Amino acid sequence: MLTFAAGPSKVYEALPHYLNDAYTQGILSANHRSSVFMSLYEETEQLMKEKLHLPENYQLLFTSSATENWEIISQSIVQSASFHVYSGSFGKKWIEFAKYILPHTDGIKIQANQVIDVPNLEIEERFDLIAITQNETSNASQVSMDYLEAIREKYAKKLIAVDTTSSMGGIELRFELADIWYASVQKCFGLPAGLGILILGPKAKEQTLQKGERGRYNSLTFMLENAASYQTHYTPNVLGIYLLNRVLQDIPEIQHTDKSLRERMLKLETCIAQTSSLRLLVDNELSRSTTVLGVSGPEELITRVKKEAEKQGMQLGSGYGPLKPTSFRIANFPAITDAEIDRLIAFLSTY
Ligand SMILES: *Cc1c(COP(=O)(O)O)cnc(C)c1O
Repeated sequence: MLTFAAGPSKVYEALPHYLNDAYTQGILSANHRSSVFMSLYEETEQLMKEKLHLPENYQLLFTSSATENWEIISQSIVQSASFHVYSGSFGKKWIEFAKYILPHTDGIKIQANQVIDVPNLEIEERFDLIAITQNETSNASQVSMDYLEAIREKYAKKLIAVDTTSSMGGIELRFELADIWYASVQKCFGLPAGLGILILGPKAKEQTLQKGERGRYNSLTFMLENAASYQTHYTPNVLGIYLLNRVLQDIPEIQHTDKSLRERMLKLETCIAQTSSLRLLVDNELSRSTTVLGVSGPEELITRVKKEAEKQGMQLGSGYGPLKPTSFRIANFPAITDAEIDRLIAFLSTY
């Protein structure tokens, strides 16, 4: 069954080969204080710089998931409170976790079809971090780099944290526009779940050291102390890190992936526009995701399309949360081949 679910998603076809290499190379039993592990970590960070254009002074850290990163940011980085701009379920979960840790957390909810109105955005002095869900997987919307740049310019003194769980590795991100970026590997990296990526810029590192929070198993201070020598503070997911390393070696530089995903998304959107009763979940092209396509329609039709797709060996991603009955989602992730997208388009064109 070919899955178009937006996470866990289709893994790279080279995965069995990587797994076999991991076993035969003995990396799975390597101690995380050994030079073998330290070189793997260092090389993976270097590959993020080469392939994803992570700036030289940004640091790669490993966590267990994007969800864990929500807590780490509030616990170890935010001084007084974060301000969240969000439109869907993942952004909502983030603000809820943040509020639990720091009760003065606040934010605004926008619609999936809306772009952030930066000139009229009012964020008070007391918020020291702005939290943005760059790609909202639940409703297939995104905040493009232009809006992030405008927020950066308007609030140069505040830290910016960006959830790119379902876009990092798929689209070109301008890392210098924010201080904290995070993702999970089961989306655009085409890998099995169980590894979170956390990236910190210099301002975020500085504020972490100032805060000096060090009481928890995942206190960022511990992570940074260990990362200084390419180690981790607890026994990490070495297999996940190895697989990430192999994927980064094999993928093209991000601008090429970015371009091909945009072209494919345009083909998918055109196909949906030509059907008689299916619609794009997000009409506004300025807020529409590049890596996740949301399709809406009458409940009966959505059920029928999903069932028929399954009969043809294709699994469409279900709608998320409140959108579940009246929509489905398609991951436009790099591990899905052009031929597979064409096959899906041929199927969807019959509606
Ligand atoms: C999938 C997803 C998450 C959660 O990722 P986990 O690895 O399951 O913690 C968070 N935010 C967004 C935008 C996501 O797509």
